[in-house]
Amino acid sequence: MKPKVGVFSFTGCEGCQLQILECENELLDILNLVEIVTFREAMDKISDDYQIAFIDGAITRQEEIERLKEIRERASILVALGSCAAFGGINCLKNRFPMDEVLRYVYGDKAHYFDTLPARGADAYVKVDYYVYGCPATKSELLHVLKSLVLGIKPRIPNYPVCVECKLKENVCLFDKGEVCLGPVTRAGCGALCPSYGHRCEGCRGFVDDPNINAHKETLQKAGLTVEELMQEFTMFCSCPLEKLEQTKSEA
Ligand code: SF4
Ligand code: SF4
Ligand code: SF4
Repeated sequence: MKPKVGVFSFTGCEGCQLQILECENELLDILNLVEIVTFREAMDKISDDYQIAFIDGAITRQEEIERLKEIRERASILVALGSCAAFGGINCLKNRFPMDEVLRYVYGDKAHYFDTLPARGADAYVKVDYYVYGCPATKSELLHVLKSLVLGIKPRIPNYPVCVECKLKENVCLFDKGEVCLGPVTRAGCGALCPSYGHRCEGCRGFVDDPNINAHKETLQKAGLTVEELMQEFTMFCSCPLEKLEQTKSEA
């Protein structure tokens, strides 16, 4: 019997769900391997009977925490699809401001109708079994994770920096061109996509485990950036992982 899969969205642009639909060449093979029973972006059908749940988007409201817990209870395997679900992603930018200010900014005098919480990845509230990183989720990684789950083996997700893939591609390092790049602390898996096209890595796949932020700070400082500017470099995608790192450091 094919495993049943549910795809669920939380706070995000749903670009990661779109990545599933963009697997055009592989879609028929995917449907031969699994039965998709819930996927709002692609079908009307809704079912609570699934073994594998893919969730995209960060968790930013109380109602989302409850819904996430329900999904976790029903699913045997929960996969965080994309950087918002994996570690909060770009949503964590708002965590730098008071939540009532954020609500007022977005909803003006209707702010009291809404609630919001600091953005977090799913694993702040439930156990996440596997992660697919990237903004949007890296397609090759998504297919690898799905295939591994169907085969019953553990997916292999890189835990080394983008620089490794960048060097293998023999790209000229952006630091050598006087630019800055977050590749040294960002998790590989995208094939060093941005530096390969001459753009800096913005860290969309989040930090590698135990990133050497201090060494990277030194490199960035050599590039002439002040501490304030350095911290800005990390905020686009990595505000939440940075918060976590700083918390761990202050607890140690
Ligand atoms: S990770 Fe990026 S593409 Fe995916 S839902 Fe979040 S913002 Fe959208
Ligand atoms: S360009 Fe960026 S990713 Fe590539 S080697 Fe240099 S720092 Fe690393
Ligand atoms: S190079 Fe960096 S910003 Fe670009 S896709 Fe890879 S991880 Fe994301």
